[in-house]
Amino acid sequence: MHVEVNENFDVKNLTSFKIGGKIRKAYFPKSVCEFEEIIQKEDNIRVFGNLSNTLVSSDGYDGSIIFTSGMRNSNCSPKDGDFTIECGCNGPVAALIARDEGLSGFEFMIGFPGSIGGNICMNASAHGQCISDNLIKVKCYSKEKGVFELSKEDMEFSYRTSICQKEPIYVLEATFQLNKKTPEEIQDKMNENLAFRKSHQPSLAIPNCGSVFRNPEGNSAGKLLDEVGAKNFYVGNVKVWENHANFIVNLEQKGTSIEVLELMLKMFSSVKEKYGIELKPEVRYLGNKNIREAEICKILNIK
Ligand SMILES: Cc1cc2nc3c(=O)[nH]c(=O)nc-3n(C[C@H](O)[C@H](O)[C@H](O)COP(=O)(O)OP(=O)(O)OC[C@H]3O[C@@H](n4cnc5c(N)ncnc54)[C@H](O)[C@@H]3O)c2cc1C
Repeated sequence: MHVEVNENFDVKNLTSFKIGGKIRKAYFPKSVCEFEEIIQKEDNIRVFGNLSNTLVSSDGYDGSIIFTSGMRNSNCSPKDGDFTIECGCNGPVAALIARDEGLSGFEFMIGFPGSIGGNICMNASAHGQCISDNLIKVKCYSKEKGVFELSKEDMEFSYRTSICQKEPIYVLEATFQLNKKTPEEIQDKMNENLAFRKSHQPSLAIPNCGSVFRNPEGNSAGKLLDEVGAKNFYVGNVKVWENHANFIVNLEQKGTSIEVLELMLKMFSSVKEKYGIELKPEVRYLGNKNIREAEICKILNIK
């Protein structure tokens, strides 16, 4: 088998932020076999889903990336309440399949563009539901072990994190046990979630990467940022969204990664100065870093 490589692949339009540059080698495997073949031949490869929680450097990345969007075809049909889904399946697609089968637990995924693998790595949550709530097991891959299985407990889930952020362990597919409800009840909950988002978060038509900072324990990053006047902050072509201070928007799609990082530093420093609280970024970073970018990533502790 020979998996095609896309050299100098411009990734900007794949990101929800519409920011990014060229990836030296981009792979789009369609199966576990292809995934394995790529990982075995490439050193220091990284794995991404839909880039909806990732700031990609405008200078691109001088390395190799696997994008999982092609790994989403097989197994995507629940059996006896058990739902096994491949890593590249989009959360909203999985949520709609579950709804049609009368299975509840995925209603929260309807309004944001994460892949199943990205959602598990980030332990994504919203509207009182979380990806780990109904998870039974994950089929994973690591260079050392090959394909192996981890239970929910092995995944070391906590707020917006999992074992995938600590070790080079990749999600291939995940099995969930969902709860029986009627499709109508599930659709009602989805409608409620979508209505909430419409009033509290920028839609995907406005390029953004979701929440910029994690909520500190017992507090809200959005509230703290609002209180320091962040809704008026901007740097170059990127600004804090006027309706919620924990979102950065790239309205005209002209923003760059350094502008986002400078704006994040401004938000971080303002909260630290007023409250002594160091906000932790939720957004991940992919790409080359010039001296200034490396400096900001170090201060913000961006991974
Ligand atoms: C409009 C909008 C609304 C959002 N709302 C929410 C929300 O309500 N709740 C929420 O939690 N998030 C939200 N997000 C953020 C984002 O969608 C989630 O973090 C999502 O889980 C990221 O998935 P992704 O596939 O885009 O991951 P990516 O951005 O591609 O990657 C994120 C991280 O996951 C890792 N990763 C990706 N795939 C795999 C894999 N197969 N195996 C191991 N690691 C992997 C990457 O290496 C990276 O570290 C929102 C984003 C947007 C743009």
